[in-house]
Amino acid sequence: MTQDIRAACVIGWPVKHSRSPLIHGHWIKQHGLAAAYRREELAPDDVAGFLSNLAARGYVGCNVTIPHKEAVLAASQPDDRAQAVGAANTLWLENDRLLSTNTDVEGFTANLDDAVPDWDGRAGEAIVLGAGGSARAVIYGLIERGVTRINVVNRSLDRAESLKERFGAAVQPANWTALPHLLARAGLLVNTTSLGMAGQPPLDIDLAPLPAHAAVADLVYVPLETPLLAAARARGLATADGLGMLLHQAVRGFTLWFGVRPDVTPELRALIEVDLRK
Ligand code: NDP
Repeated sequence: MTQDIRAACVIGWPVKHSRSPLIHGHWIKQHGLAAAYRREELAPDDVAGFLSNLAARGYVGCNVTIPHKEAVLAASQPDDRAQAVGAANTLWLENDRLLSTNTDVEGFTANLDDAVPDWDGRAGEAIVLGAGGSARAVIYGLIERGVTRINVVNRSLDRAESLKERFGAAVQPANWTALPHLLARAGLLVNTTSLGMAGQPPLDIDLAPLPAHAAVADLVYVPLETPLLAAARARGLATADGLGMLLHQAVRGFTLWFGVRPDVTPELRALIEVDLRK
């Protein structure tokens, strides 16, 4: 009987924090599927061996969370998107081949489309705070959607500079000291640093110079309403939050593994919000 059940998992180290089982579990139940989604805690040395036996372990695919998103590229066949971003978060088996992609890209843009429908029309210049793994996915998504100037502001300027080498002239590295001047020209501000996250230092910036048409997105989702988003809302600016991105990035994996395209609904959002508030 169990062989009729299609199963997927999330691999990470640690993996306890992952909300993916809650998201996919909700969709499995909603669609009445004979399917399962589990957590698999794997040390870095165990990832390649685990993935080479994915089907034998009963899995049709998996999500990947920290710290394995870069390492899984070598253990799978990444698409152009995962290769360009330098990280994959969604893997699936197709004709005995293990393929991978990066759905943080579309998670970011689909969430903005939902929350701020005309964001790409008014983005003009964008500012991305941070130059880590999630910044790469965001920058890829912005370039794909036609944003031609992305000021990447990062504590370590060399990391922002390496993103210019990766993504080309649309990326302009900048120091934090340039922020007030850059904000005055920006149509979109995105925080991809961990600043503002529970347990991390605050993200201390003054949004006053941002034009009234600018939108603000934060990838941090614990807390749900970050001080950055609260300040943007207090100014009447359009916002997109990190939870929305987390939910939207999950859609394609579920579709690939289980053959049904799920929706990001208010009901799903409410379910995860309850968990995040615990
Ligand atoms: P990385 O560790 O790859 O990058 C962290 C970034 O934050 C770097 O640019 C780093 O700067 C900066 N940073 C960290 N601490 C400080 C500090 N004290 N002062 C200034 N800058 C700092 O992390 P990720 O890109 O993977 O993740 C970043 C955030 O995005 C996390 O909160 C994560 O939870 C969230 N996220 C949310 C997703 C979603 O679906 N909503 C998806 C993926 C991530 P430096 O280079 O100088 O070290």
